[in-house]
Amino acid sequence: MNVIEGIKTISFDGDGTLWDFKKVMRHSLQHVLKELKKTDPQTAIQLDIDKMIEIRNRVAKKLRGKITNLEEVRLEAFKQTLKDVGRPNDKLASYLNQVYLKHRFEDIELFNDVLPALETLREKYTLGLLSNGNSYPERCGLEGIFQFIVFSQDYGVEKPDPKIFRLALKKSGCSEQEFLHVGDSLENDIMGAVNAGIKCVWVNRQRMKNTLGFKIEYETDSLLKLLEILE
Ligand SMILES: [Mg+2]
Repeated sequence: MNVIEGIKTISFDGDGTLWDFKKVMRHSLQHVLKELKKTDPQTAIQLDIDKMIEIRNRVAKKLRGKITNLEEVRLEAFKQTLKDVGRPNDKLASYLNQVYLKHRFEDIELFNDVLPALETLREKYTLGLLSNGNSYPERCGLEGIFQFIVFSQDYGVEKPDPKIFRLALKKSGCSEQEFLHVGDSLENDIMGAVNAGIKCVWVNRQRMKNTLGFKIEYETDSLLKLLEILE
């Protein structure tokens, strides 16, 4: 693999790249169900995690472009969940959302390679977070690591839209050639970066097949290997 030269800034995707979002999401919904069993067992018995995920995705689709704040989307999803099982209760939905968000932020586990890699990279590079999600670094053990953060929900534009890459580029203060994006999603991170004219590294932790139809120049299963790619 060739070495990437001249990089000054590296932006990272969050979910699936730095932490396992699906895992913490399911774990947090488990806590919600446990709480629901105590407060409203009749509702709890009609739900399971997969059903709650399906309702959340449906609500998010419906609210696309109307509500961008993901914590509000989640609240609307809990409201809809209670309606779907014939037990509407907005106050309970608010409470469930609080339970969910507490675990969703506090119980995030970083992948093992993340801290050692970022601690080393930050000595030489400006690091940023460029995420379609809403995991605040200071709430998941990454306080002070990033010099800039771009959350799509704050700008109403998401990856893979090149606009959000340009926004990150502007925040970093460096040129396109000096910027590298690192992420796990072929569509959002790799296609997005390629369309924005930005170099990228595909984080392929599960060794999945590249379905993009063109060769990705840089691919790794560990962030620690970034140190080799960059030097
Ligand atoms: Mg991701």
